[in-house]
Amino acid sequence: MTDHSETIAQLRDAVKKICDDFPGEYWRAKDRERHYPSEFVQALTDMGLLAALIPEEFGGSGLPLAVGAEILKAIHEFGGNAGACHAQMYTMGTVLRHGNPSQKNQYLPGIASGTLRLQAFGVTEPTAGSDTTNLSTFAARQGDKYVVNGQKVWTSRAEHSDLMLLLARTTPKDQIKKRTEGLSVFLLDMRETIGRGMTIKPIRTMINHSTTEVFFDNMEIPATSLIGEEGQGLRYIMSGMNAERILVASECIGDARWFVKKARDYACERKVFGRPIGQNQGIQFPIARAFGEMEAANLMTERAAQLYDQGKPCGTQANLAKLLASEASWHAADTCMQTFGGFAVAEEYDIERKFRETRLYQIAPISTNLILSYVGEHELGMPRSY
Ligand SMILES: Cc1cc2nc3c(=O)[nH]c(=O)nc-3n(C[C@H](O)[C@H](O)[C@H](O)COP(=O)(O)OP(=O)(O)OC[C@H]3O[C@@H](n4cnc5c(N)ncnc54)[C@H](O)[C@@H]3O)c2cc1C
Repeated sequence: MTDHSETIAQLRDAVKKICDDFPGEYWRAKDRERHYPSEFVQALTDMGLLAALIPEEFGGSGLPLAVGAEILKAIHEFGGNAGACHAQMYTMGTVLRHGNPSQKNQYLPGIASGTLRLQAFGVTEPTAGSDTTNLSTFAARQGDKYVVNGQKVWTSRAEHSDLMLLLARTTPKDQIKKRTEGLSVFLLDMRETIGRGMTIKPIRTMINHSTTEVFFDNMEIPATSLIGEEGQGLRYIMSGMNAERILVASECIGDARWFVKKARDYACERKVFGRPIGQNQGIQFPIARAFGEMEAANLMTERAAQLYDQGKPCGTQANLAKLLASEASWHAADTCMQTFGGFAVAEEYDIERKFRETRLYQIAPISTNLILSYVGEHELGMPRSY
């Protein structure tokens, strides 16, 4: 396999420079107002960083997933938050793998240059929850269009995106043979649908994540919005899940690095009872343990990315990477909090904000229990638990 270590070193430098221009005060202000970090996303776009995985023929860098993962890791390690834009990096994978040549030519160059924002991914519904096969948003074919009715929830960045990848039912549930069938993927142009059958309502959350509810009321979209074959949408979405898990795991590793460094530096410099607090094993050992968990999770994430880039099965590794990395970042966050004592809860140290932000990863994009059930069933051969 090609050695990308030099590219990774250059990309890390580029990310660090951008993150240095967007220090804690920037993120704190955005967090306070729940504003989208447009300037930061634009800076990443201008450097082509979000187009890393798009093939060169469509204007991207054509880099492997392992390198994309290092970009996201670095963003979090250097204090940024890729949650505002990571979808631009990987949601296009469904179009790339399953779209027809005309769809690829129409959309991928714009996504690569950033003139077209593909940030929104509409899968989760309020009633179905984690049981995606139970979703009920319906797209009915009528001549050369589909008419969509239903509702999505937690559709992040919908207000900051031009396009949405939408998973909807196209065959009623009682007419399908397998529960994984009857769902289809659409690439819809929200510039055409907002206010014309589509309504977006922001959800205020404990983190600044620009997430929303989206309602479809007789929304008409051209039949050409369908990606691939009708009824095969779940398979297409699932084929992108491993990449998503590996990339999100990388963000967690970046967070863990940020917390461990912050805790380590403070433990060395803060003196109480006449000595650095890091001299006490009660402070030093949890930081060392958090470091160990982070390194182990990083190895699993790198392994999963390597298998993915080799085109080998990586479901277990991608799921375990997400599980271990989200727990490592959370343990590092908690350790950092305890190390800082009272100052941890003061906004200006950024710890309480990052603490809130990193907690999300145990819930989304997939919650820990669902990962454990995947591993229990697919790796360990135990009975399906749901
Ligand atoms: C901030 C945020 C952003 C998000 N962004 C997006 C987005 O852009 N697009 C999108 O489509 N979705 C998005 N999501 C949705 C996210 O993927 C879901 O919240 C997540 O998959 C969990 O689904 P749920 O919230 O419906 O929980 P539920 O499915 O209701 O589950 C609740 C709890 O029960 C557990 N549980 C459920 N079933 C079982 C079982 N059989 N065995 C054991 N435990 C079980 C779950 O693990 C979870 O802990 C986002 C969510 C959040 C909070």
